[in-house]
Amino acid sequence: MSVIPPETIVCVDCGGTCHLLSYLPEDDELEPGDVVAYRCADCNDRWDVVLGDPDDD
Ligand SMILES: [Zn+2]
Repeated sequence: MSVIPPETIVCVDCGGTCHLLSYLPEDDELEPGDVVAYRCADCNDRWDVVLGDPDDD
């Protein structure tokens, strides 16, 4: 089972757009529990997001 992280997320602090920072390996897949990093374009905060199980809301 693999997880595709979104390219962008909404910044929790300022509502701006956070862009994916993490390098995504082409021949390796991310799995639930892996951490990807985002950087907010507006407030420059970094967010580390733990990928969830896509079958689990
Ligand atoms: Zn922000």
